[in-house]
Amino acid sequence: MDRLTRSPRELEDVIDLHDRHGVQLATCGSEIDLSTPTGRLIARTLGAAARHEAEHKGERQRRQSRQAAGQGKAHGARGYGHTRDRAQVVEAEAQVRECARRALAGESVKGLAVALNDQGILTMTGRQWTRQALRAVLISARISGRREYRPTDSYQPGHRPLTGPITAAGMWPQIISPEDSDRLRALLGDSSRLRPANRSYRYLLSGVFRCGVCGTPIRGRAHAGRARYQCVKQPGRPGCGKIAVFADLAEAEARDKILTALNESPGLLGALLAKQQAAAAGADSDDPGARLRAIDERRDELAAAWAAGEISRKEWATAKRVLDGQASQIESRINRSARARALAEFAALTGDMWQRWEDPAMTTSARRALIEACVIAIDVRPATPGRRWDADRIQPVWIA
Ligand SMILES: [Zn+2]
Repeated sequence: MDRLTRSPRELEDVIDLHDRHGVQLATCGSEIDLSTPTGRLIARTLGAAARHEAEHKGERQRRQSRQAAGQGKAHGARGYGHTRDRAQVVEAEAQVRECARRALAGESVKGLAVALNDQGILTMTGRQWTRQALRAVLISARISGRREYRPTDSYQPGHRPLTGPITAAGMWPQIISPEDSDRLRALLGDSSRLRPANRSYRYLLSGVFRCGVCGTPIRGRAHAGRARYQCVKQPGRPGCGKIAVFADLAEAEARDKILTALNESPGLLGALLAKQQAAAAGADSDDPGARLRAIDERRDELAAAWAAGEISRKEWATAKRVLDGQASQIESRINRSARARALAEFAALTGDMWQRWEDPAMTTSARRALIEACVIAIDVRPATPGRRWDADRIQPVWIA
């Protein structure tokens, strides 16, 4: 009976099924005749007992796994990069380290997954990497030698949370440092909020290009089969609708203006790098990831208080706004640190600026981070009538 039905409600469904279709049911050992009141009573009693047992078992398992987590014991299936018992790093899988480094430098996880697949590197189960699969590996505390605990009762319906509190450190060989792991977990962790550094950009300079007439940041969009950046005029939005430029021309021009500047002033790259690293220094020192997680927790507490009727909707909304503001400040600091890393990567590459730009290490997100490190925005001026392409339309606003 406990195999067939886990809950009294399901049992009632089975009894209904029997009544309608005369389905006969045999349980191991005894046959229960659902057509008689006595048979149904037995079935219901057995069912309730099975349910009770299942609930107890669940509680017992939760207690055990909480205890195991506290002691830092390994659990579950083998994790990518470690042997089953976690005593050793599987060197063939240790390119996780490289992925972590590039993700921290601002590259998108999706781009990294594509790169792994292109190299013919598969997951443990022999599949192609997806963004989700790679993200799960990168944000696991395991790869930093630490144990985290994600109790089953913290699951949202159908979703295991991506991260949980760290319960033990230094339990097995680490593939990346706990500090890098904390940054990755902050960048790529739970939360439906899009972390800016985690966006992968279809248009290299969406939001970096600015309308040269009204000053609104402009985005890329396909228009009549060709990608353009366009100031869009919409009711209630700030755009003026007066500027549009072909994406390929505008991006190439922006790239050349920035690379030319870097090329012509030898000290510029170093100066920008120092500036970005100084700006990022504070962001790294006080564990922004932990602060973001703390804010997420407070958001949850607030939502729970509102659901329980302890605070009004208005109070909840006000407090949430404050927390959202704090979170976006911290996120922009995490972004600064991603930009500093991208710039450091670029500075470490060899060759002239254009060769570096074309280097396989420079993905779209890395290129974008490089440009964001150099300019506040890039203004797009109106076209001069009658001219095919006017390079002066693209005007970088340099970071002073
Ligand atoms: Zn405009």
